[in-house]
Amino acid sequence: MPECNLCGQEFSQLNKAEVEGTIIDVCNSCLRFGRKIEIPQQTYKIQRKIDFKSLEQEDLTIVSGYGEKMRKARESLGLSRVQLAEKMKEKESIIKRLEEERMEPDEKLMKRIEKLLGINLKEKYQEMKTARTREKTKLTVGDIVKVS
Ligand SMILES: [Zn+2]
Repeated sequence: MPECNLCGQEFSQLNKAEVEGTIIDVCNSCLRFGRKIEIPQQTYKIQRKIDFKSLEQEDLTIVSGYGEKMRKARESLGLSRVQLAEKMKEKESIIKRLEEERMEPDEKLMKRIEKLLGINLKEKYQEMKTARTREKTKLTVGDIVKVS
């Protein structure tokens, strides 16, 4: 087990703290002698992974009025719901629910609809949200520079 650099006792988990300009491992009770360093390198790596994942997921979202868009595209191709359902190898009720926006297609289904109807059902997430996430990442990078 790791030892606290200040009191020498063993603990299963230690905190990184800056004491008089040096970064050492300390136990919870010795933490008060220094300034706790909030983001150890390991945690940072995990955090960044999650950030990227959520970015990817949030980057593209289904357009508002996708049902209407689907219906118009289908009608302009001269297809009935039944015909479209056949082409997609889905039930007519699925097409109906999608067009009435009572159901959102998953990624796979969305791609098939886009291909069949020649439309785009995805839109970029608002710029502001992306910018804010970038800012957060930048701050985290700053923290890690301080640690190492
Ligand atoms: Zn201690």
